[in-house]
Amino acid sequence: MATKSWGNVRQLSNHARVLRYIFRNQPVSRSEIGQDLNLPRSMVTGITARLIEQDIVRELGKADTQEDGAPGRRRQLLGIRPDARFAVGAEIGVRHFRFCLTDLAGHVLEELCYAPTEEQIRRVNETLCLGVRQLLDRRPELGGRVVGVGIALPGHLNAQTGGMVSHAPQWDAFNLRAVADGLDQPVTAENNVRAMAYERYLFDIQSCPENFVFLHVGPGIFCSEFKGGMLTGGSYISGEIGHTISNPDGQRCECGKVGCLQTYASEDWIIKKARIIYASAPHSALRSLAGRAEDITLQTVLTAYQLGDTLVIQELREAVRYLAVAAANLAIIMGTEKLYLHSRMFQHEILKSELKAGIESQLTFVDKQNSEDVEILEFHPARAAVGAAALAIDRLFICDRS
Ligand SMILES: [Zn+2]
Repeated sequence: MATKSWGNVRQLSNHARVLRYIFRNQPVSRSEIGQDLNLPRSMVTGITARLIEQDIVRELGKADTQEDGAPGRRRQLLGIRPDARFAVGAEIGVRHFRFCLTDLAGHVLEELCYAPTEEQIRRVNETLCLGVRQLLDRRPELGGRVVGVGIALPGHLNAQTGGMVSHAPQWDAFNLRAVADGLDQPVTAENNVRAMAYERYLFDIQSCPENFVFLHVGPGIFCSEFKGGMLTGGSYISGEIGHTISNPDGQRCECGKVGCLQTYASEDWIIKKARIIYASAPHSALRSLAGRAEDITLQTVLTAYQLGDTLVIQELREAVRYLAVAAANLAIIMGTEKLYLHSRMFQHEILKSELKAGIESQLTFVDKQNSEDVEILEFHPARAAVGAAALAIDRLFICDRS
């Protein structure tokens, strides 16, 4: 089966441009489509007629305002039929493999998630094929309406070989072509944080602009960017904000540099520092929460924070402070319309408001508007898998139309 790693919006057919425009701007009239895409009315009428015939687009009823230049006629609005097609999104990682089946509006119909064994990671291509088949077997009635499979990777796709570029050796066996061969479905793949940006772009059409940055804080810190409706920067180091220097006098990062943002604000380093607190501070709340230093997770750290452990509070405040500076710098440099932040840490309301205040204070010298465009998202563990389904819909269904 075909693999597709890259969809260039600029090279889209008019058919694909119209469908993508309806996706992002629905409910929308034919005249708006024609004006914004600079296409003749007759062409828009022809393309939308075909999409309606194929049951992908539907007429939603008349708008309150009149069609330009057509007195007395109210505009007929068009929208996507959410159940016209479906997609599978999969996320692979050492902690979990997650599979989601979604419709065109991003509703999750079926989900499968488990912690993989070493064997399942070693045989990652077969594991992926099996997971997709298990998920689709639950909904045999969808049959030919599944457009394909998107995969969110804990690294970057090597478009030449189909392999994954990653610091972690356990993913050496991954190959997109092998997955495509094992499935009776077209497949595509992207880095997991880039997939999360797709989840915003395609499934949050109400508030997601055409230009935005998505910053994710997990075991590592990474950002991705959409510009003019296109995911930017396909290189292996773009987005590596975690390895920009926050403090040249800081600690040595695993990348070899000193004082990376990663060493202050990533989950891995927060846990690592909490383990040091555990070992050196006998009265720490961490002692009552974990039997051994190795048992400390991010959740343990957050609970200790809530219990008022002063060293943990200090550690997390420092993480928030460095993260706020990095996020504000990013917003200023990128000049983007919106900055999304996603992290398990900011489920905690106090940390969330400290981060928001920190970013806003950094942005006071610029337009007030800017700080309002920072959105700290609710943490959603399936965001990358759902984003991978959005990726599949965009690349394998919308952009692929001739
Ligand atoms: Zn680093």
